[in-house]
Order: sequence, then C-alpha cells, then structure tokens
Amino acid sequence: GQLFGALDRQPPDALLAVIGMHRADPRPDKIDVGVGVYRDASGATPVMRAVKQAEARLLAAQPSKAYLGAEGDQRFTDLLAGIALGPELAASDRITGVQTPGGTGALRLGAELLARSGAGTIWVGTPTWPNHGPIFREAGLTVRHHAYFDAETAGIDEQAFLSSLDAAAPGDVVLLHGCCHNPTGTALSPDQWQRLVAKLAERRLIPFVDLAYQGLGRGLDADAAGTRTLLAAVPEALLAYSCDKNFALYRERVGALWVQSATPETGAAVRDTMLVLARSLWSMPPDHGAAVVRVILEDDDLAAEWRAELDAMCARINRLRTLLAAIHPALASIADQQGLFALLPIDAAAVEALRAQHAIYMPASGRINIAGLNEDNVARFAAAIAPYLG
Ligand code: PLP
Repeated sequence: GQLFGALDRQPPDALLAVIGMHRADPRPDKIDVGVGVYRDASGATPVMRAVKQAEARLLAAQPSKAYLGAEGDQRFTDLLAGIALGPELAASDRITGVQTPGGTGALRLGAELLARSGAGTIWVGTPTWPNHGPIFREAGLTVRHHAYFDAETAGIDEQAFLSSLDAAAPGDVVLLHGCCHNPTGTALSPDQWQRLVAKLAERRLIPFVDLAYQGLGRGLDADAAGTRTLLAAVPEALLAYSCDKNFALYRERVGALWVQSATPETGAAVRDTMLVLARSLWSMPPDHGAAVVRVILEDDDLAAEWRAELDAMCARINRLRTLLAAIHPALASIADQQGLFALLPIDAAAVEALRAQHAIYMPASGRINIAGLNEDNVARFAAAIAPYLG
C-alpha cells in the first residue's frame, strides 16, 4: 500500500477561513475582529518605527550572516531578560535562556525539555490558546484541563481554578498565561498570583509561563509582575516568551525560552539539553528579528522609541476597551480585562448571524480582537451584538 494512504484530511484553520470570508466581503463597513494581531486606527498592522530604524542599521552595517549556534543571538536573549524578568532575576545563576523561533518555538522547546526530563502531564486552563494542546501533545506529554474562566462573570473562577489543581500529581506542569490571557483577556490580580504560587508550592507543581503580550496589557513591568513573583518563589519553572506582538515582528518569529532550575549545576545540564534539543528541532533560530530586537535594546534612544510606541498601542487597546464596556452592561468586564482579546458570551449561531447581517467577522468561539475596532465603528459593533447578549 501507499505510505501516505493512512493520512486523513485535516479541517482547515478556522481563523484563516474567517480571514478569507472577510477579504471577499464587499460591504464597505465590514469589521474584522478575528485575526489576532494588533491593528491601528486605520486597521493596519504597521512595522514599528524603532524596528524600521534597527533594520536600516542592520542592512548598512551587519558584517556577516555566518551561523551563530543553537542558542541563537545570546546578546538578544540577555538584553530581553532585563525586559521580561527584571534586573534581579535576569542576573540569577539559576536561570538560563536561549533564542527560539517565536513563542511557539519556545513552548515546543520547553515541551521537549519537559518530556526529556520525565514530566508526563501538563495542565492547561479552560479555555486557552488553541495551539497549546497540540504543542504539548506532539512532544509526548499528556494534556489535562483545569478550571479557569467563569462565563457568567466573564472573570476567573479562582476557587474552581485552584481546587482543580488538587487533582494534579506532584511534578505535573501547569501552563500559565503571564498576562493578557488569550482568548479571555482575564488577568490574575497580585493577590491571586500569591495564592496561585502557594497552591503550586503546596502541590509541588512546575509552572510553565507563556508570556506573549508583555506591554499590551498594563505596561511592560506590570505585565511581567506575576511571572516575576512566581519565579522568585518557586525552585523550578519555565518561561516561553514572544517578541512577535510587542515588537510587531510576527512573521520574523522572535522568541526565547528561559528555564529556572533549583541549582546552578542543574542549570548547566538544562542548558546543554536545551541546545541538543534545539539542534534537532531547527538547528538554529532565524536571526533577523532577534537581531532587530537586540539593536533596539542596545540603544537607549531606539529602546525609548520602542517603549513609547508600545505604550501608545497599549493605550489604544485600553481606550477601546473602555468605550466597548460602557456601551452594554454585559460587556462591563471588558474594561477590567487586558490585552488584545475578549470572549463574547455569544454562541456560534450568533457569530454566524453577525457575519451575514452585519459584516462582523470573528471565530465561532466569540473571541474578539479589540484592536480590530476603532472609535468610529465601536458603537455600530456594540449595537449589532447587543441583541445576542441577553
Ligand atoms: N502564546 C499565546 C498565548 C499566543 O496567543 C501566541 C500567538 O498567538 C503565542 C504564544 C505564539 O506566538 P508566536 O507567534 O511568537 O509563536
């Protein structure tokens, strides 16, 4: 028989289908809140000014494109550690990091490291980014689900969340969103982080933080505060980081994986293993995007320009959140949430009707990208969804 005869067709990516339908829709007032990238008021996802300047410098002065190594651009990772971890943790001799192809590459490398270390099970919240399950399963881990989101309050059901972790065995891993939860927009308060840390310690669970939107919620330091509290309190942890949203580098695939181990000696073995695994996954990560981030973070003026533009993006998202929340009582919690996403309490039939009748595009889950709105269409959007909000 044929080798590939056993393969099945796979369902098309649901979000890509939404993109295609939106593109083909001739209605001039159509709204796309489906795609998960930042958009400015004109609907564009521009290259950031600091990125353009860093690229110009690289084009003019980059001396070589010879191979760097499985760790990628180590100066990129070290400078980024200052942004993600803060100065104290960045100096820890128990934390080691390497460059990865995006946040996805960081999650996959972390998953492979966990599997190699003998971890069997990772817990993810309900709901979570749809790619989390496949990434961990493909690495051979068992994926289990803990409680997290309460659709009634559009908030975190903390009691259910923490008590569902009682079902985890010591040594199990727990995937946490560092900030700007995708798809719900929820965020743990500082007190909730503390209680989560206590639960992880009590049950001896290993946190794996996914930080993909630092700076797009409440600001760079605020968005990393929970992650830093966590790392300071536990012996072992992983942190997958993406620069693809906060530097708007998406297709350049820029990320890093940091692993904290109990002792510096273990950390050396962890690093060796990460590099061996990276060699068989992608040998070396793509350089250009990470080089851009390095050039920005090496230069105080460029770094300040990047921070200012990121702050403006964050402010625009939060302005739209305030506007949307004020329009209907069922949307009030959107103002307290953060990041690009919110999960509307509507069903797939409502999503379909919004598309047919109002040219409003989102995936069947009801997840919306707040940045797909603007000051001119947010009222029309709210009026269109109001009948479905109950
Ligand atoms: N983690 C979460 C929660 C995300 O939403 C995404 C991207 O959508 C990623 C990780 C992956 O980001 P990257 O594009 O850098 O692989």
